[in-house]
Amino acid sequence: MKLTELCSEPLPGDLDLSEEILIGNDLCGEMPRLVSEHIGPRPLWLADPSTWNALGDVDLDCKTGRPVGEEGLHLLPGHPHADTEQVGRVCGLVEGGGFSGIVAVGSGTVNDIAKMAATLSSVPYIAFATAASMNGYSSGIAAILADGLKVTVPARPPRALIMDSNVLAKAPPELAQAGLGDLLSKPVSTADWWLGDRLEGRGFDELPGRIVDDAVRQAATHATGLPLGDLQAHEALARALVLSGTSMVAAGSSSPASGGEHLLSHLWDMEALVSNQPLRLHGAQVGVATCICAALYHLLIDFDTPRFPKLPEWAKTSERIRIAHGELADAVLPQAEKKFSGFAQRSAILQEDWPQIRAELASFGIPTSQEIRTILQAARAPSTLVELNLEKDEAIDALSRARDIRDRYTVLDLAFELGFFPAGISQVMAHSGV
Ligand SMILES: [Zn+2]
Repeated sequence: MKLTELCSEPLPGDLDLSEEILIGNDLCGEMPRLVSEHIGPRPLWLADPSTWNALGDVDLDCKTGRPVGEEGLHLLPGHPHADTEQVGRVCGLVEGGGFSGIVAVGSGTVNDIAKMAATLSSVPYIAFATAASMNGYSSGIAAILADGLKVTVPARPPRALIMDSNVLAKAPPELAQAGLGDLLSKPVSTADWWLGDRLEGRGFDELPGRIVDDAVRQAATHATGLPLGDLQAHEALARALVLSGTSMVAAGSSSPASGGEHLLSHLWDMEALVSNQPLRLHGAQVGVATCICAALYHLLIDFDTPRFPKLPEWAKTSERIRIAHGELADAVLPQAEKKFSGFAQRSAILQEDWPQIRAELASFGIPTSQEIRTILQAARAPSTLVELNLEKDEAIDALSRARDIRDRYTVLDLAFELGFFPAGISQVMAHSGV
């Protein structure tokens, strides 16, 4: 299926989109054709031990579609990270081994490594999704860890993507629950994207929202079927995740699907890595963080007594960041400095226009944290900090400094620039119900 058939919205013809999207039952048999049409004679198969097993348990025919022997399979270590080292290793394999492209068998991490390596090595890749756990399959960016900082880098989408509901439904349920959590950030991310344009003139477009809106509603309607392994529910989720990735291609960035809630999640990841703790699922964190950011939006929309802070000195701000971010400070500071440079302009607009901006934000119809939580709970997905094994103090801490890690304007910045934070942080936590 072409993406234009999956999407009810007309897509601009000049977008770099996946050429084939296959969503449905028993699609493993399509692999040999896809490999031969999109990759050519010498594919490098990339997986980690558990994602490779997920494929093998379902249909061994997929593996016999591999035209080269065992040397064409690169198994990443268990629980790999999508970091610059792994990407470099795969680039070396592709270029050193004369491979004609990459077949990624896996979900977030394997897909990010394959997408980045294929882009850097100028070869095509195709993705076989082993879980409906995130919206990055069809996007034009890869989330990569570089020097401890999670960054999103432009990268070509897969030439073909298979989302086989039999495989997706057999994956551990927490993966699809995370996929749903990742999707639910959309209204909050979109409002953040709009704010960035309103205050900094960075550009905003309604098309990405229209691409994905209906599919997200459908996926939410089927939420209860996800932990039960219902194939229709998994297909609805797969469609929404693919279109969410497409919305990012249409926007030319992750902005329509990644705002302040993603900064909270990325900061929790960065902190876990520094302290050698296992990472939680991205979408599980995003679901809970979205409840927090939605609560913050509703409080700010009602906030009619702003106390605009004075322009701080960069020396003081950088000192705060050095203390707050410890060993990650060197990676964080350049992002924070870029954002800092726009403070005076943003503050002037807020002082002039806050009543109007509040009214405009209210018209977005951002769901309440309770409405988001209800959908997460229907899927039995985490909807509280306790379920993420996160302390309330860690969430409070992240709310005060997640804005530093990326030069992207979000509701977390707005709260500070209206003088609502830091005093209002405890109010947000109470309001969010997480
Ligand atoms: Zn995400």
